[in-house]
Amino acid sequence: MTAKKMTKKQLAEYEKILLNMRQKAMDDADSIKENSLHDSGNLDSTARDSNYAYHMADVGTDSQEREKSFLWYTRENKFIRHIDEALIRIKDGTFGICKTCEELIPHARLKEVPNTTQCVACKNENH
Ligand SMILES: [Zn+2]
Repeated sequence: MTAKKMTKKQLAEYEKILLNMRQKAMDDADSIKENSLHDSGNLDSTARDSNYAYHMADVGTDSQEREKSFLWYTRENKFIRHIDEALIRIKDGTFGICKTCEELIPHARLKEVPNTTQCVACKNENH
């Protein structure tokens, strides 16, 4: 059985896509971090407000928002790590090969989710 691999040209293409995605994700993560730092400043002044009961609702919403952006930020970091791992797989030539069935992952799927490590069939079986 011959080992399946992507051509160097294909790998170079995906590397470019991944690097672009990584840059965009980093930019997004940065702006979220800035926003949530800014929000926590607002939260303090709201909490100090004399009309405590009235503002409780606002505080709730704010911390929910903050939690949401924190979760999003965490997810974004995870996403960047996945991209890094995909970039490593490009370097060692295993990129685009399903880690479960060891078949090449269809290009349509890789273009959509370049950081994937499984073909659709294997991914669905795991769920
Ligand atoms: Zn598979």
